[in-house]
Amino acid sequence: MSPTVIDKNVSTLLSKMTLEEKVGQMTQISVEAFLKTANGVPVEPHVFDEEKLRDAFRKYKIGSLLNVGGNAQTLALWRTRIETIQKLALQERLKIPVLYGIDAIRGNNYTLDAVLFPQQIAQAASFNVVMAARAAEVAAYETRAAFIPWNFSPVLDLGRHPAWPRIWETYGEDPYLVKEMGNAVIRGYEGNSAIIDRYHVASCLKHYMGYSMPLSGHDRTPAWIPERELREYFLPQFASAINQGARTVMVNSGEINGVPVHANKHILTDILKGELGFEGFAVSDWQDIQYLYQRHKVAADNKEAVMIAINAGIDMSMVPTDFTFCDDLIALVKEGKVSMSRIDDAVGRILKVKYETGLFDQPVGDAKDYPLFNSREHNRLNYELAAECITLLKNDDHLLPLKKGTKILVAGPSATSMSALNGGWARNWQGTNSNETEKGKNNILKAISSVFGPENVVYSAGATFTQAAGIKDAVSKAPSADVIVLCIGEDSYTETPGNIDGLTISASQIELAKALAATGKPVVYVLTEGRPRVISEIEPLSKAVLQTYLLGNEGGNVVADVLAGVINPSGKLPYTYPRYTNSLTNYYHKYTESLEFDPAAGYNPQWEFGHGLSYTSFAYSDLKIKSSELRVGSPLTISVTVKNTGKVVGRETALLYVSDLVASITPEVKRLRGFQKVELKPGEARELTFRITSEELSFINNDLRRVTEPGAFRLSIGGLHAPFNFH
Ligand code: BGC
Repeated sequence: MSPTVIDKNVSTLLSKMTLEEKVGQMTQISVEAFLKTANGVPVEPHVFDEEKLRDAFRKYKIGSLLNVGGNAQTLALWRTRIETIQKLALQERLKIPVLYGIDAIRGNNYTLDAVLFPQQIAQAASFNVVMAARAAEVAAYETRAAFIPWNFSPVLDLGRHPAWPRIWETYGEDPYLVKEMGNAVIRGYEGNSAIIDRYHVASCLKHYMGYSMPLSGHDRTPAWIPERELREYFLPQFASAINQGARTVMVNSGEINGVPVHANKHILTDILKGELGFEGFAVSDWQDIQYLYQRHKVAADNKEAVMIAINAGIDMSMVPTDFTFCDDLIALVKEGKVSMSRIDDAVGRILKVKYETGLFDQPVGDAKDYPLFNSREHNRLNYELAAECITLLKNDDHLLPLKKGTKILVAGPSATSMSALNGGWARNWQGTNSNETEKGKNNILKAISSVFGPENVVYSAGATFTQAAGIKDAVSKAPSADVIVLCIGEDSYTETPGNIDGLTISASQIELAKALAATGKPVVYVLTEGRPRVISEIEPLSKAVLQTYLLGNEGGNVVADVLAGVINPSGKLPYTYPRYTNSLTNYYHKYTESLEFDPAAGYNPQWEFGHGLSYTSFAYSDLKIKSSELRVGSPLTISVTVKNTGKVVGRETALLYVSDLVASITPEVKRLRGFQKVELKPGEARELTFRITSEELSFINNDLRRVTEPGAFRLSIGGLHAPFNFH
């Protein structure tokens, strides 16, 4: 079906629809509303209350469903679930298929056995857009295998506040990296054709926009972001993804400058649909229209909340479990408080996505089309991607890799935890059942035992994330070990339940680290954490530190293979790792936040954005700029040579930064403007070429205009610098 045929079909269908049918299309209900329950929780495996479901179609004409309803279900159950839903929906007058949406945010996590890839924050550390796109393609395939055509992913929020519990759902703190990863992943999800085929899904850009920087660091609390900053840091990645054709966006649950984004017409209509020309649809986040009166108090009741949100530009309400939205919206239209043209606009957008995902032609998939679900090939890709994400932060005296036969004491609360490796959005929302559901996979301890041999490995947890109960036992096992691998960090959490009041790693883990260091054995920290917990007190007690973020189901194997030198780590931090809880500055800070300006408390993180070591070494040379003058329409061509000067094969990401030396808005000390990852054999050198246009060096000025101001710039790459001018 071509785009023009789709447009024609949408308007023909729209012309036949009653107001009730239109409002139904704008309504999204969570599946748990239709599941049979016992003692208030869904019966496992899930069973539909078909009467309730039929009623929702018959009475309310609902157009969309979401979520899993608690725990992940089998692939077979998902298929029957979607078949039942579509069968009932298609019995209605206009035979409009249902658009089912799911958080398959790193693989189809809500389907048992689907591949669990590294979380976004870890994928960002790979700086490998090709592999991230490939993983997204597999995630789309495995989601479509469950007959689900719409994925609430990727998150394009900028991970600037390290305490925010959703940092791990982001691609980190840099707008350019977020944009590049986002674009790649959207291609992986949606494919390249006008119609999304049966192996791809519609993506959903989250959470439009400015969600990620609540002042307190607590999820869903107020953010104060001037429009200039919104446009400079938070908007470009959404703009770019929309430009690529991303089909849907989900709206920021929070408030900015005192206005809940679900009520913000400027952001939802003027900017999104006007300025960015977005032709897909905007879905609310969970219950967020109701929250306009229940939490935010900008509406007196549900009806006023619905009026504000729909008039602001929301097209679909994730209600999530009742039908108040339908009743109130129908009344509002009849009273003239929401115009029919607004309704037609919203419904037209939703129907278009239903056509574009092929639902009218094939509302239910064909199981035969998906032989590769959870295949060896998909799991292999998971391992390879995780291998590119893991980041070596410290390696004093080249302690790592460890030799064969090294005696290892494995300790720490995450050594045996699949939930700590996977984090949230696993087989349930909070990721709490991963130890059970993923028990067939290797946790860190199992993997180390299998790589180094069980005879060389002893284990003692030593502590939990909250209690220092077993320290004595761990210390007593140290004498027989050559090295201690201490696995510490965070247990799984998602969204608001992950709010914390202090960024420092838990006291029980600090106590354990100190006690183990006191044994005199060299200690390697393996960090399993969704956000960078401050470890400055115990960092000096370690010889080596490996950051695993939330590596997913292959995390254990990858940690063991890095320790053994089978994998040479190549990840780089996608955020600034803070040293102090009150210094949460990003790398692209202003000059007044630097150490030069303030030697006592200037930017002095534990590890910088982009930091990551290797088992080999790389040298940069021959930095050349073709001409030192940049002009509009004639990009700057930059080349540099990178050489592997060590003894093993390694992968290096070259990071190109540019500093605007003088500007009308105080310039950041530097901004990432390009990166390339290459694999080099020992002794091998490669010339890399980058191109930068004047547009790419632009910023938002005080009049909210994007400008590149003439003047002097400086670029840096691999420790080399070069000046240039823009005229
Ligand atoms: C989250 C979204 C998610 C939605 C649906 C919300 O609580 O903020 O990221 O897509 O739930 O599950």
